[in-house]
Amino acid sequence: MKKEVVVEEFSGIKLRIYRYGSGSPSILITAGIHGDELTGVYAAYKLIEHLNNTEKMDGTVKIVPVVNILGFLARIRHNPIDHVDLNRVFPDGMGSTVTKGIIKTVWELASSSDYVLDLHCAGHYSYPYILSVYPDYDYVKTFVDNISWHVSIESSGQRGQLFIEASHQGIPGAIIETVGGRGYYMKRWGDELFKTILGTLNNLGILEYGEADKGKKHYGKLKRVKSDYEGFFKPYIALGQEVAEDDVLGEINGNIVKSPISGIVLGVAEGTYVFKGESLARIAESI
Ligand SMILES: [Zn+2]
Repeated sequence: MKKEVVVEEFSGIKLRIYRYGSGSPSILITAGIHGDELTGVYAAYKLIEHLNNTEKMDGTVKIVPVVNILGFLARIRHNPIDHVDLNRVFPDGMGSTVTKGIIKTVWELASSSDYVLDLHCAGHYSYPYILSVYPDYDYVKTFVDNISWHVSIESSGQRGQLFIEASHQGIPGAIIETVGGRGYYMKRWGDELFKTILGTLNNLGILEYGEADKGKKHYGKLKRVKSDYEGFFKPYIALGQEVAEDDVLGEINGNIVKSPISGIVLGVAEGTYVFKGESLARIAESI
C-alpha cells in the first residue's frame, strides 16, 4: 500500500511511504537519505515490486525508497535548499522546514518499528558491508546476525544518524553500505542487496525466502590508509579481500604501500589520482 505524506505545507513536498503486511515484527527500510546513493534506492524499488506480488507475510514492512526527496532530484547527498545531511540530524531535524518535516515523518516510522535498516552506498570501488553498533547492544548484534550478508563492521557511532539514534532508543538499527554513489547505481550490487533484504526478512520470520544466509564475520571499525605520496595508485589487492599487517596493498609512483593492520579491504582508491594525505584504502580491522 502506497501513501504520500506532505512533509511541508507551503511547497506540498510529499514523501512516498509503502507499507506491506500487518502486526509484528515490523521493519522500516529506508534508502536515498543521501540523495546520490542510488543503488539502495534501486534495491528498495525492487523490493516494493516484489512485495506488491507477495501474498503471504507475517509482520510489517515499511519502505521509504527516497528519504531525501530534493537531494535525489538533484542527485546530490545533501538537501540542496539548506545543505543539511539528513543522516546527521535525527531525531529533531535542523535547517529548512522540508528537512525538519522529512526527519519528523521518518523518525515516527522508525519509533513505531521493531527494526530499522537504512540503505547506503560507499562508492564505486567498495565492497558491501553492514554497519552497526553491534558491540554496544546485544539486541543490535542479534539483528545484525539476522541480516543476510557476510561482512559486519563496527560503526563510529556518530550521533544524528537514523540507525544510531534508533539503536540508542532500543530499536535495533543498521546500515547496509553497498557499491555505487555519486548519482549512479550498480545493477549487479543492487540485485545482490535486494536478495540480502529478502534473506533478512526471511531470518526475521516476516516472509519466506529460500536463499537466506546467516553466516557472517564481525570486524572492528573502518580505518583509512592515508597516502604518503602523490600519484596514480596501483592496487594489488581485491575488494573484499582479507589482508594481514604489512601485506602489500599496492604501489604509488614506485613506492610500495603496506597495510598497517590486518582486516578486510572494503574500499580502494582505484582509477583516480591520489594526493598526499588522501585515502588509498579502507580496511575494517580484524577482531
Ligand atoms: Zn550514505
